[in-house]
Amino acid sequence: MKLKPCPFCGAPAEMQTWHGGGPLKRMISCSNVEGPRLCHVGPAVTGATPRQAAARWNKRAGDAPVVIHTTVVRRMSPDEAADKEFRDAIGV
Ligand SMILES: [Zn+2]
Repeated sequence: MKLKPCPFCGAPAEMQTWHGGGPLKRMISCSNVEGPRLCHVGPAVTGATPRQAAARWNKRAGDAPVVIHTTVVRRMSPDEAADKEFRDAIGV
């Protein structure tokens, strides 16, 4: 069964064994877990078998809209904040 991409960021899904369950238990999660554009939702589902996990993942992936554009919010450093304050004060 082919896995649909992550419904939140569009990255490929990743299946791995789940050590807490039976021998066939699998977890499927978003593979986009690092880097500046990582998935902020990080969805994951488990299933007693690979087929069940895939069915659950694909159902969830089919239900949610795919968000293509994500906004990365970055906090300004103290220097940048002081610089912005100065530029705002002198009107440039
Ligand atoms: Zn994702």
